[in-house]
Amino acid sequence: MARHQEWPWRNLDRYGLTLTNPMDWRAIDRHILLAMLVMLAPLCLGGYLLGTLAIAPEFLHIDVAIALLAFYAVFSVVFGSLITSAFFLRRQVDEWRSFEYVVIYGFIVVVLVTGYLTGTYLSHALLLLLLGVNITSALSDVDKIRVAYWQVGAVLIFMTGVNLLGWTAYAPLFSQSVYSPAGVPFMGWFFAETLLATIVGALVYLVTSAIKRWVVREELFKNMSKTDGLTQLTNRSTFIDQASKELARGKRFVDESRPWISCVMIDLDHFKEINDTLGHAAGDATLVDVSRILKNNVRDYDEVGRYGGEEFSVMLPATGPAKARAIAERLRHAIEASEVHYGDRPIRYTASFGVASQRYAQLEELNDLLKEADAALYDAKRSGRNRVVFYDPEVGAGQRRKKVKALG
Ligand code: GH3
Ligand code: MG
Ligand code: MG
Repeated sequence: MARHQEWPWRNLDRYGLTLTNPMDWRAIDRHILLAMLVMLAPLCLGGYLLGTLAIAPEFLHIDVAIALLAFYAVFSVVFGSLITSAFFLRRQVDEWRSFEYVVIYGFIVVVLVTGYLTGTYLSHALLLLLLGVNITSALSDVDKIRVAYWQVGAVLIFMTGVNLLGWTAYAPLFSQSVYSPAGVPFMGWFFAETLLATIVGALVYLVTSAIKRWVVREELFKNMSKTDGLTQLTNRSTFIDQASKELARGKRFVDESRPWISCVMIDLDHFKEINDTLGHAAGDATLVDVSRILKNNVRDYDEVGRYGGEEFSVMLPATGPAKARAIAERLRHAIEASEVHYGDRPIRYTASFGVASQRYAQLEELNDLLKEADAALYDAKRSGRNRVVFYDPEVGAGQRRKKVKALG
């Protein structure tokens, strides 16, 4: 059902063709596309002018109309040859800088000349130019476009001045007004406006598609910078960021019935052995498995992060010591019971857990809580692995000091 509603060009790959995002194209290809869009302007406007010359020449100053037609013709020939050259050049180079300038200024010149001769430079032509800015900024260099359109602004002010001072005729293409004395457009002009509206409609569609792709891409990049590519968990910096926000929130809106925040640090046991004996890909599959278990066994508002290589962290808002320890125990059991299906033999593995809890009101720095959970994890490793150890400032610290001394 849904398939019938799709636009044909979304299914081009069915016919062996793929339409990729033009923003991913090489510069020269983007500028060829842009040049072909610009080419539509003299072709459509020229065709329309020819039609008017044939059907209603009484509205036009013939010499101006012929000069304008000649301009469109020369423009199309020059532009057409440039596009053809670009097609040849694209095999050798990725970018043709002067072509980019020709495309931007070509469009501006066509629209401004037409706008001046038809007296529409502050209405239709301006609208076309603004749409041009939108399309070109997706496909070309935004800084170049910005400079070009400052210049357009200056030219428009000059044109307005010239017309106001009466130095030249206003709308010199027309020999008589295209509006009746009652202000109603004559049929031909009405048709011209409809044609323009159709073209503008198509351009607006293009612009919105470009902007939509842009937004989707922004979203993708944002997510990529926040999540770990392998496990899709939040990465270390985002985890710390989210947890700090939770701490700040908890401190401001203290819920007297839930004064605690807890953190669990998890490190896989002898993970290096899995990598060494079964290969890195098996290690990766194990990391994906543990991420799934962690995600599935905590509440939605608990934050799970990949803290380092095979180290994970879970932030438990509004959770006291007993509950945090129970959650860690549940996770440990789930990991111990899990089998990773990779190759012919299932992989079994375990993890060690360090848990720490603090009252929101007393915790100044998130880092203090993370350090405590890390210290408890260290104790869990030291006392045999595959276990949960809750941070104990007295016992833990004393033994850790001894260990450090022994190592030192
Ligand atoms: P312990 O029980 O003491 O934690 O031992 P361990 O082997 O788990 O710890 P160790 O720190 O010696 O080794 C961690 C290993 O994790 C080494 C590293 O190559 C591996 N590792 C880190 N990131 C990745 C990853 O993204 N994929 C895979 N496959 N391995 C990783
Ligand atoms: Mg480790
Ligand atoms: Mg480890």
